[in-house]
Amino acid sequence: MKKVQILVIGGGSAGRYAAREAARLGREVLLASTPPFGGLCILKGCMPSKALLRSAHELHAARTELALLGIDHAGTFSYDLPAIIQMKNRMIAEMADSARGSVDGVRGITLVEDSVTFLSPESARIGHETVHFERAVIATGSVPKIPDIPGLSRKWTITSDDVLELETLPESVIVLGAGPVGLELGQYLSMMGVKVTVVEIASRWNPELDIRIEEGYLASLAKRGMVVHLGFRSERFDESGNRPVLHGRIGDKPLTLEAESILCATGRRPDLDGLDPLAADVHLSHHRAIHVDPWLRTSNPRIFAAGDVTGALPVLNLATYHGEVAGFNAASAVPKKVEDRPVPTAIFSDPEFARVGLTEVQAHALHIPTITGYLPFSELGKAIVNRQTDGALKIVAHEKTREILGAEMYGTGASDLIHLITVALGFSATIDQYQRILHIHPTMAEIVKYVVEEMTESF
Ligand SMILES: Cc1cc2nc3c(=O)[nH]c(=O)nc-3n(C[C@H](O)[C@H](O)[C@H](O)COP(=O)(O)OP(=O)(O)OC[C@H]3O[C@@H](n4cnc5c(N)ncnc54)[C@H](O)[C@@H]3O)c2cc1C
Repeated sequence: MKKVQILVIGGGSAGRYAAREAARLGREVLLASTPPFGGLCILKGCMPSKALLRSAHELHAARTELALLGIDHAGTFSYDLPAIIQMKNRMIAEMADSARGSVDGVRGITLVEDSVTFLSPESARIGHETVHFERAVIATGSVPKIPDIPGLSRKWTITSDDVLELETLPESVIVLGAGPVGLELGQYLSMMGVKVTVVEIASRWNPELDIRIEEGYLASLAKRGMVVHLGFRSERFDESGNRPVLHGRIGDKPLTLEAESILCATGRRPDLDGLDPLAADVHLSHHRAIHVDPWLRTSNPRIFAAGDVTGALPVLNLATYHGEVAGFNAASAVPKKVEDRPVPTAIFSDPEFARVGLTEVQAHALHIPTITGYLPFSELGKAIVNRQTDGALKIVAHEKTREILGAEMYGTGASDLIHLITVALGFSATIDQYQRILHIHPTMAEIVKYVVEEMTESF
């Protein structure tokens, strides 16, 4: 039987970081991944979705904003979807090649493009070969989840994987779920001319947010053509003229929706298909994710896990950070604990949404006394001259120590602007320290300065 020091299962972001970290520490690593190589972010996630959104956002801006800027154009703007998909596929192929190059041929790492199944707590089958491992890292990611709604047929349903490949678009789509994937891909379809209705079971889009941020953000999406129905309880599907009809209710009010396709964006489930973790004594959590402790150890002390398969917040920055920690711990005698770092997150809609650290609601739930500041983009010079005034920023700080605790915002550039607060959190900065920093005028970044200024003057 072939023997390896460290077996890393899954060549996505978490797996590649784990493999590189373990190899850096001098271990011989076998990285095995089901083809095609690249992982979710590159092949079916962050990158292809943003590539398509760029075309949709530019198209929408050309159709709606040029006139605002006094630019005349003759005729209408149209698009060539097969060309857009081809461009996206070329970019993705290059990114996947570069990801392969970051591990294949790297000293200490052997890459095998095949699936892994555990046979015992210390052995696994990779393709037709049986391998004995000293330590292993599971980083097999996640797959789309189809909700269990009576009458929902596979013939109408599409997932994020499908949307990214469509070369002809349906005339109308119901999106199930108003999370980042539902909103981004829903807006992509909507801006490309599809009639999109998003339904969300929660009655608040996000109860941790300031209601002004939540309502302002959803109103901005609606203004750009995408309606989100909150508190919608899906009851059943039936069929009318070969099209799906969704029956549900909001509170007591029945609501019936009809469309050509149903985009299921109700989350993803850990990808354990064919892995057989139980054969390796690796236990699952009640969400059927790989259960890990703060050192990313599974119930089998030889095996660690990282990324979406652990049920962690499904974002790339956590997958790579956890991958690095899991790789380190698999390779070293003294493991390190996952630090509680602030995780900035964003939704790449137009306008964007972003947050980091604690919101006021979360701080109060933790009994932390707070001071806050809030400013709409309509009061920011650069947003006014750019005609991009849909947006607002709220910052939360500790009332006594004046340390910045977090921020929530929506508006143009929110996914970049949030890093100003992320850096402040990283250095445990107070509002008084931040206030001393000069900002270029006129910029969107000044909004942070103005909110902090308001806070230091008021409190
Ligand atoms: C549409 C969409 C858009 C997204 N956009 C963003 C974004 O903008 N920003 C962001 O931060 N996050 C985004 N995400 C989430 C992000 O892509 C994931 O959180 C991240 O890529 C997870 O990385 P991972 O390494 O855990 O899993 P993956 O990248 O899924 O890697 C798992 C790998 O394991 C392999 N594998 C599975 N089973 C086996 C097996 N038995 N044997 C061997 N190999 C196996 C798979 O083939 C795959 O290569 C998005 C997700 C989606 C769906």
